This record gives sequence, C-alpha cells and structure tokens, in this order.
Amino acid sequence: MTKQRTPIIDNHGRPLTYVRLAVTDRCNLRCFYCMPAEGIDYLPKKQLLTYEEMERMLQVLASLGISKVRITGGEPFLRKDLIYFLQQVKAIPGIEEIHITTNGVLTEPYIEDLVKLGIKSVNLSLDTLDRERFFKITRRDEFEKVMQTYYALLDSQIPVKINAVVMENQNIADIVPLAALTKDYPVSVRFIEEMPFNGEGQHYPVLTWNYRKIIQELQTAFPDLYKVSDDLHSTANHYAIPGYKGNIGVIAAFSRTFCGTCNRIRVTAQGGLKTCLYGNDVLNVKDILRSGTSNATLIEELLRTFNSRAKNGYEAEAQRPSLLSIFESMSSIGG
Ligand code: SAM
Ligand code: SF4
Repeated sequence: MTKQRTPIIDNHGRPLTYVRLAVTDRCNLRCFYCMPAEGIDYLPKKQLLTYEEMERMLQVLASLGISKVRITGGEPFLRKDLIYFLQQVKAIPGIEEIHITTNGVLTEPYIEDLVKLGIKSVNLSLDTLDRERFFKITRRDEFEKVMQTYYALLDSQIPVKINAVVMENQNIADIVPLAALTKDYPVSVRFIEEMPFNGEGQHYPVLTWNYRKIIQELQTAFPDLYKVSDDLHSTANHYAIPGYKGNIGVIAAFSRTFCGTCNRIRVTAQGGLKTCLYGNDVLNVKDILRSGTSNATLIEELLRTFNSRAKNGYEAEAQRPSLLSIFESMSSIGG
C-alpha cells in the first residue's frame, strides 16, 4: 500500500488531486463541436510529449498529491502502445485511479487489457443513438463500432459513463433515449452543455440548451426524476429515475457552476499545463522537461501555478490575452 500523499491546496482553498492528460491531438472522428471538418493542423510528432516525459511529469504530480489520472485526447487509442503507457502509469506510486475518455471507435479490442489494468472507468462519448445523426455530428460513419464498444464495456463490468454533448438542432431528440439507457444497465449518462472549443468559435450567440433546459426536458419525459447526491468534486449534477439501474448527470460546462470545488488540472497534447479549462496554458511543462532541469525546479514552477489559479472559469477566460484564443479545439485540451 502506498502512502497517501497530502494534496496541494490552491490559492482558493481547493485541493488538487486530479490530472487530465491528453496523450494526442489526433482523432479519427471530426465532431463538429470539437474540430473543423478539414484543415486542422496536427502537431508535429516531436511537439507531443513522449511517454517518458509524461511518466516523469506524472511521477512529479503524484509526489504533489495528484492521485487520479484521466487519459484523453484527441482519441487516446490512436496513440501507439497506449496500453504499455497505462502499465507505466499504474506503477507510479501515489496514482490510485486511471480513467479513460474515448470515442469508442478503436477501443473494443483493448477492453480485456483495460480490465487487467484495473481501469477505474471509461467515459464513452456518444451523442446520439441514431446512425445518421451520428454521421452528421462526427462526420464519420463509425456508429456501429462505438455501439460494439459500449456493449463490450458493459459486459466487462468496467464502470461506463456516456458523455453526450447537447447541441441545438442536432441531437435534442436523443436526450430521452439516451437517458433511457439507464433503465437496464448501471450506466451513467451525462449530458454536457456545448462549449465554444470547436476550433472555430462559438456556434450560437446564446446557449439555449443550457443545464436548466436539459433538466426540464428530462423532467418532462420522466416526471419522477429525482436528485441523487454528487461527489464533492463532481462536475455533474446527478439524477435518477425510480427503478432504473443507472443515473443521469448534467454538466454545466458552459455555465460553469462547479468551479468552487474544482480539483483538476489539465496537460494538453503539446505539454501545456492548464489550471482551468477556460484559461490559457499557464506553464510549458514540455519545455521544462526538455531543458534538463531537475524535478525540484519543475515542482517549484508547478507550485507557483497552483498558487495562482483563477477563481473560476469566467475569471480564467477574462485573463486570456485575447478572447479570440478561446477558439481552440477541444482535441488538444482533452475535454
Ligand atoms: N476523443 C475522445 C472522446 O471524444 O471521448 C476524448 C477527447 S474529447 C475532446 C473529450 C470529451 O470532450 C468528449 O466527451 C467530448 O464530447 C467533449 N467535448 C469536445 N468538444 C466539446 C465541446 N465543444 N463542448 C463540450 N464538450 C466537448
Ligand atoms: Fe475526436 Fe473526441 Fe473531438 Fe470527437 S470529441 S473530434 S472524438 S477528440
């Protein structure tokens, strides 16, 4: 049993225990809310953190009390030898939980490996249960493979969460059928407000389908919907339907209602540290790792950034040099 490390507390009294690591910016889908259809410039391979660099960074973060890692991207299963990397992460003292977010296209053949690794949960992105709408949203015809991954994950007993971005004029008809998946399986279906991280800027002047409207839609279809308790650091507000095996989460990702308990940091595919999703990179971890500096220097720099986090996503956004820079793609931030 490894010794529990005391987490670092940020300048607003929030413990930092969770890192989201984008292992690639490449993707085999083109979800319109995340990436443009064409013309996206992938990072040259040399600009991605190597597995060795990621491992060293995670060792340092674990020494500072980070105990939960989410592997994301781009599509993490596009990165070669991902399972090998996960084995290295699992062996880092202090890392207690590994989670993965995936689009499910390439995931199914690796599920046995994920079980062996003791992966804590898989978040599967699935915005619709309709093949044609899936194609319209992701611009790729891969619905069947994603559904195969979904059923294989349920069979594997790995806890599954579905991430569904709610998009005006796109998948509103899917809200009820997706929520109904919680009837027979212990799955958590989470509806996420769409954020302006599609590489092109905001789609709508106003976000009509905000968390309140999503909850109303659910309450209309399921009048017995009731609130269940949330983990302290959860970004989702959870609900359930009597007699159903799973639960439903609503994530106010655009309205930013959860910043007060935010315990997470992000490392982008190019090795930038973000202490808020809505903020700029606050530290170039890759340059530090490649400059030959000691871990002690890296720790000093990390602590400096942890001690100057924005209070919330609005403050972080306002601190960006230009609001235009929010027009980045979620594929390099990792969600
Ligand atoms: N490719 C993987 C996937 O789709 O699951 C992992 C990376 S993806 C960027 C991580 C999560 O971010 C996905 O669940 C996706 O739905 C979500 N996401 C991407 N762009 C978003 C946006 N503009 N607003 C809200 N969520 C978004
Ligand atoms: Fe790819 Fe995930 Fe972005 Fe969709 S949300 S384009 S699957 S990185």
